[in-house]
Amino acid sequence: MPGTSLTQPTPVSLTVRTVTTLADGRQLIYYDGGAAAPRDAVDERPLDPQAPGSEVRLDPATGDWVTIAAHRQARTYQPPAEECPLCPSRDGRLSEIPADDYQVAVFENRFPSLAGPPAEPVRAAEGLWTSGPGAGRCEVVCFTADHDASFADLTPERARLVLDAWTDRTAELSARPGVRQVYCFENRGAEIGVTLAHPHGQVYALPFTAPRTARMAVRAAEHRAATGRNLFEDLLAAERAHGGRVVLAGEHWTAFVPFAARWPYEVHLYPHRRVPDLTALDAGQRDEFPSLYLELLRRFDRLFGTGRTPYISAWHQAPAGQRDELALHLELFTVRRTADKLKYLAGVESGMDAFVNDVAPEDAARRLREVAA
Ligand SMILES: [Zn+2]
Repeated sequence: MPGTSLTQPTPVSLTVRTVTTLADGRQLIYYDGGAAAPRDAVDERPLDPQAPGSEVRLDPATGDWVTIAAHRQARTYQPPAEECPLCPSRDGRLSEIPADDYQVAVFENRFPSLAGPPAEPVRAAEGLWTSGPGAGRCEVVCFTADHDASFADLTPERARLVLDAWTDRTAELSARPGVRQVYCFENRGAEIGVTLAHPHGQVYALPFTAPRTARMAVRAAEHRAATGRNLFEDLLAAERAHGGRVVLAGEHWTAFVPFAARWPYEVHLYPHRRVPDLTALDAGQRDEFPSLYLELLRRFDRLFGTGRTPYISAWHQAPAGQRDELALHLELFTVRRTADKLKYLAGVESGMDAFVNDVAPEDAARRLREVAA
């Protein structure tokens, strides 16, 4: 029912969450830090029902899941600013967000790669071909109503509100039947293929464990068997002791360029006390995160003297049933190598998953320390 609203506290303090429904039945959730105007604006657009769903298929040769989402070809692609669907609805122009202003807003993607309830996978050709519905959910997270801002421009309070929204989405989506892993991420920059310029990220509730996570789980199990210790705790301790690749360190988090970085500038940010996902962060970790993360993003923007650096920011969270060994961390990287060169995933990377990095991780870390304000 469009405009239906209910307000309830989130697991985190001071954030007010208001759940509403868009004209085609998709959910929209406002997150406000403390008191805000009532979020009761109604979506008055005539919207068609959502497009048909996608399919997930298991690659029998690699064991990786692939999502087949052919219906997304029609989605909005780089509209002019005055037609931005993520700006608030103002002056008679109706967007995905009915309110005339907002702080942080999350809504179900109109062109989702994954949507709907789970179902048993179907196996054919003696089990070689395993497929199922593209179940799950794809959400868009708008960081600010300001079309021209970027995450790096946010205040620490707003960045904290985004962290609260990511945490809330992780808690709610993880509890849904069929959801294996919740992935919060941001693509920034046309160079990355971003279709909307408005500052936003996404949340995918995956019906499978992501291939990169699955490989990490295998490595963590091998490390446990060999040493009796946790892989990620050992990794973080080693980087902190070595220090040469550390970019930033606080009381609760450390950011470093990984030993075998794949991208020209790649930083991994770990909380010192290992947790499986965002819902397990404690107050100290949550309070310190915004300042460290904003500083990292601002340093990325200062790397090349070209203004905003394109990047991908990826939260790695433990999937359901694999919370014992995996470690929440954020991986931030750019495809930019120099002011006028991008790193393309060509034959070696795309063909073989074997990366060639043109920047030594130690040099990347030194550079990221140098560009402090
Ligand atoms: Zn906008």
